[in-house]
Formats: sequence, structure tokens, C-alpha cells
Amino acid sequence: MQLSDFRNEPFTDFSQPENQQAFEAALSKVREEYLGRTWPCWIGGQEVSGKKTFEGRDPGDQSRHIGTYQELGAAEANRAVEQAYEAFPEWSRTDVQYRVDVFMRAAQALRERKHEFSAMLCYEVGKSWAEADGDTAEAIDFLEYYAGQMLETAQPQMVTPVAGEHNRMTYIPIGVGAIIPPWNFPLAIMAGMTAAALIAGNTVVLKPAEQSPAVAAMWLELMHEVGLPKNVLNFVTGPGEVVGAAMVKHPRTRFISFTGSRQVGLWIHEQSAKVQKGQQWMKRLVAEMGGKDSMLIDAECDLDAAVDAVIAAAYGFQGQKCSACSRAIVHQDVYDAFKDKLVPKVAAIKAGHPAEYGSNFGPVIDPDALKKSNDYIKIGKKEGKMLVGGGDAPDGGHYVMPHVFDGIAPDAKLAQDEVFGPVLALIKVKDFEEGLQVANNTDYGLTGSVFTDNEEHKKEAMDRFHVGNFYINRKCTGALVGAHPFGGFNMSGTDSKAGGPDYMLQFLQAKTISEKVN
Ligand code: NAD
Repeated sequence: MQLSDFRNEPFTDFSQPENQQAFEAALSKVREEYLGRTWPCWIGGQEVSGKKTFEGRDPGDQSRHIGTYQELGAAEANRAVEQAYEAFPEWSRTDVQYRVDVFMRAAQALRERKHEFSAMLCYEVGKSWAEADGDTAEAIDFLEYYAGQMLETAQPQMVTPVAGEHNRMTYIPIGVGAIIPPWNFPLAIMAGMTAAALIAGNTVVLKPAEQSPAVAAMWLELMHEVGLPKNVLNFVTGPGEVVGAAMVKHPRTRFISFTGSRQVGLWIHEQSAKVQKGQQWMKRLVAEMGGKDSMLIDAECDLDAAVDAVIAAAYGFQGQKCSACSRAIVHQDVYDAFKDKLVPKVAAIKAGHPAEYGSNFGPVIDPDALKKSNDYIKIGKKEGKMLVGGGDAPDGGHYVMPHVFDGIAPDAKLAQDEVFGPVLALIKVKDFEEGLQVANNTDYGLTGSVFTDNEEHKKEAMDRFHVGNFYINRKCTGALVGAHPFGGFNMSGTDSKAGGPDYMLQFLQAKTISEKVN
């Protein structure tokens, strides 16, 4: 595997009847063989049960039982870190090619069973077929991309020649990683964060989000099938503030790889800086956090394309992406025309259970997300005028219909806070310059996009729109591994780039070896 040979996994064309049938078959296989299972945890290569368990339910249909999971406590989380620490010396000295081969086999196995994993995503987190297919494709991409990158990183590094010495610098693994992913890309981000750490030669404790342990447990089974030694990937489930917190604080934890909210990320940042009794290093933290992402619509642009892109970015997966567009900042000359085109299209979005073919708008993840969206809808009604909202939603799930709010001030709560639901704020600006200033007026800096045909404005925005992932004349979601290395600035995280050429270095340290020669 050469990194230069890497290509993104193609998305499935569900308009083809054979692909529809294959996906329906996978949905029924998942219903029959996976839903309702009780999943164990894994510590030190052994299955582990908790004293208590907790249940997962389908966010789109609460009557459907997704799975039962072990509710571990801090003691088991500590034991998992200690077991990972014991496994580290052997795994860290395995050949790079051996580790790469394990993950290349995993990518191939995932490709062969991709619809099964995607089907689980429809039930477990409420992804539409296309969104689920994208999540699974991204997981395959991460495995192959990081495998390829590790091979490159393992090549001899350039050092300056000195007469009488043989000098080398090589990258070595760093230790035990606490891997703490979110529920919104519960396959891609979970597998990507875990795989990068392991391919680098570290051992890990993985704690999936409470909302999405089933797909993580399926992936763990796949990793065992392709020959990953069971003791290098410890798998623990339970509340983040108990199990995750213990993993963060443990003195044997060498690094934390976290993706999730700003609030939890900042708490981990603080905790990870405290040196615990017996700790021999400063912990490293890779934190990818929230966003408040904008699309800036200029006076000169293809307005129809802009409207479609805003809709895709604001309501794809019900707005539950860190990259989701939650603010459309629109030039006053086209503001009314933009609104007139946007409103009927948003109002026409129909909600349905995501496992049904053609249903592209599903539920939000859980009762907390439902409440949060509804709270911001109330705020939006005070801060602006509701143009779209309400409509029929299926019974039995956590559905919030798409909302659009007009006339939102740039400093309003709806313009500043991450809602993480299908709520879009429209902000009118007098010119492009003011638009750029508004685009930069949040604490975040994750993604953003500009729609403009004006070359000067493109250049200005490339320089000054301060986000980690900036797009021109396209939506601000849908980053591809390798093509769009992903991660944000400011309160969006530690400025790392998932799926980017320097990602692996975060899980490695460089060792210089200098030998005197005659
Ligand atoms: P969250 O912060 O609630 O949870 C993330 C993970 O942290 C979960 O596994 C959770 O169990 C764990 N956790 C919670 N409290 C903890 C604690 N005290 N100690 C250790 N671990 C703890 O976030 P979420 O709701 O799962 O995900 C949504 C958030 O993730 C949004 O803010 C979104 O923007 C962000 N996100 C960012 C990116 C990115 O690349 N920047 C990608 C996806 C999601």
C-alpha cells in the first residue's frame, strides 16, 4: 500500500435496483442477527461483563431494541488502561508491515460487509442509507489511508550528514491511548481514531459513545476476525463521565484521542494537564471538538446551487454533523431571492424512518438532543422570525422537523451556539466584507464555505475566512479522507487533521540515533 495509490471508497448508487436489494438484505440481516444482542467488553484479551448493563434503542423507533451493553465503572476502566500498558512493549515492537497488513485486511473485510455496517447505522443512530454508506466508506478510507501513511512515516527520515557519524531519526509509538469518539460518525471516527493509534504501534482503550456501542462492537468483532491481537484493543462501555474520565486521568495513559463536544473536550484538556501520582510523562491530547459553521452567499453567485448546498449541509443527518451549516450569511442584494428559493424546498422535506428507502431526513439521536433543538427553536422564535418549522413527523422517535429562522443578528445565541440539530439561522449582511467579518465572529473555526463568482472575493476569503476546512462554491460538509484533511481552529480543537498527511505523527515520537563510525 503506497499512500500515493490511495483512492476514496466509492459511494453506493442506490438508484440501482441491485444495490437497493443488497441494502434491504443487509437491513434484514442486521435485524435478525445483530439487533438485541448483549455485547461484552474486552479487557486484556478477555471478555468482561459489568455489574450492570444499559440498553440502546432506535432513535427513530423507540420500540426497537438495538442492544444491551456492559455498564462498567472506573475500576474496570483503570484495569483496561493497565492491561493496555502491559501489552504495549510487545505490540510496539511488531513490524510496521505486520500492523499495516492487519488493518488492510480489516479495510477489505469492511468493504465486503459494508452494507451490514451501514444498516446498523440506520437503526442505531438514525442515518439515512446514503449517510450511513458515507460513514462506512469513510471508515474504510481511514484504515487504508493511515496504513499507507504509517509505511511512509516508517521510511528513513532525512537528517543532515556529518562526517564520522551514522545518524538516523525514526518514529516510535508513544504508549497507551484513551480513545473517546462521538456517536455522530460512530463507525468512521471511532475506527479512524482507534486504527491510527494502533497502526502507529500504540495499545489502546476504546470507549465508544453511550449512544452507539453496537456498531463499535461489530467493528471490534471484525478486528478480531482479521487477526488483531485481542489484548491490544481494550473495549469498555459505560458513562463517559465515569469510564472516559477514569481513562483520561489514569497515570499510565500516555495520550488521549478525543472527538466530541467543546465542553467535554475542554474538561479533558484540563484533566490531562494534571500530573497524577506515578505519571512519567506529559499526556498528549488530540481533541476534535464542535463547530458553528457558516456558508457565505455573495451577490454574484449561482443562487440555485447555493440554496441546494445550504440545504444539504444544514439538514443532512438532521444537522448533527460538526461541519453542518447552521448559519447562512447572505448578501443583502440576494437575501430575498435566496429566501424565496430556500423556504419551499426546506418546507418540502419529509421525515421518515431512515431504514426506509428514500427517507433522507430522520430523527435526532436522543431525548437530550430533542430537548436541545426544541430549546433553540424557542430561542429562535424570540431572536428572529420562523420561516419554516413544524410539519408531520413519524410517531415513536425523536423527530425534529427542519427549521429556518430569518433576520438573526450576528451575535444572537442562534448565531453563536452549536445547536447540533436541523436549525438554520439566516443572517443578512450589507456586503461581502461584512459577511467575512460575521463568518469569523464565533469561538469556533471548523468548516465554512463561500458561494461567489468574484475572483477577488474568493482570494480574500481564502486568506481571511478562518476555518480548518474552507470550501468554495460547494457545501461545507462531506470532507473526504486524504482529499480534504479534516479539523478546525480555535475552540474546534487542537488543530489536528484527521485523514491528513501529518495525522499519524500525533501518535508517534521521534528518536534520534547517532552512531560514531570510523
Ligand atoms: P460528547 O462530548 O458528549 O461525547 C463525546 C465522547 O466523550 C463520548 O464518547 C462520551 O461518552 C465521552 N465523554 C463524555 N463525558 C466525558 C468525560 N467527562 N470524560 C471523558 N469522556 C467523556 O459529544 P457527542 O455528543 O458524542 O458528539 C457531538 C459533538 O462532537 C459535537 O459538538 C460535534 O461538533 C463534535 N464533533 C466534532 C468533530 C470534529 O471532527 N471536530 C467530529 C464529530 C463530532
